[in-house]
Amino acid sequence: MNLPLESQSMSDLVKEPRIFSNDSGVVIIESKTKNRIIDILKEGEKHASQIKEELGKAKSTTSVHLSDLKDLGVIDVKEDSEDERKKIFYLSSQLLGKSEHPQDEHYHDILDNLKDSSGKRYEFLKGLFHLLRHGLDSFGLDVHPALKEIGRDAGRAIGEDMSVNNRDELFREISDFWESTGLGKMKVKEHKELIVRECFDCCEMPKIGHTLCSLDEGMLEGVIEAALNEKVEGVEEECHGSGADHCMFEIKWE
Ligand SMILES: [Zn+2]
Repeated sequence: MNLPLESQSMSDLVKEPRIFSNDSGVVIIESKTKNRIIDILKEGEKHASQIKEELGKAKSTTSVHLSDLKDLGVIDVKEDSEDERKKIFYLSSQLLGKSEHPQDEHYHDILDNLKDSSGKRYEFLKGLFHLLRHGLDSFGLDVHPALKEIGRDAGRAIGEDMSVNNRDELFREISDFWESTGLGKMKVKEHKELIVRECFDCCEMPKIGHTLCSLDEGMLEGVIEAALNEKVEGVEEECHGSGADHCMFEIKWE
């Protein structure tokens, strides 16, 4: 498969190119300058002059990168309704993940877990799920942003059917859901700290130096958004992947 790749000079390459999804498919951005422009636009839409200023590059250089990013479908442009001579740039794609150094040192541990789960339905499915997740890392593909987004969709679907009136009721429903489906045993502290033990997503995964449960982060955000109509950010602070014996999710209310 030939993925579209933007042209750039060797000195302008990032170590871990980022992968974006747009209406046509997938785009890989390797240029430091282009990734920087994307970060600037993540804060919100901006005029070309503002982007040039924040980027600290010449107007002509900024224009070339903006034009490339637009052609690649990563950003788009519209007229400023207050001043039609000015153009406003904005992001028109979504971050899926990034290319990383292949991490396969734990792949065989997970395969061994899978072997040990023969005859145990739940353990086997969990092992297969871990293998799939870690298999992508072993190919050098970090898809955490995509997993979080998929988790949000799952969470919204689940949260739509919850009939709750306040945060207490919501977290009772969420804990029940987590436990009854085998996702984990959840304890909630003050509506903002969730401790999950026996987490489906990461327990028995080796310590690999970072948190793993992006899918759960997204699910928590989606459930809360759909059930209470409130925007939150779910961030996993502790995880089996980072060496803890549980997961801890922080819920940041807006
Ligand atoms: Zn975890």
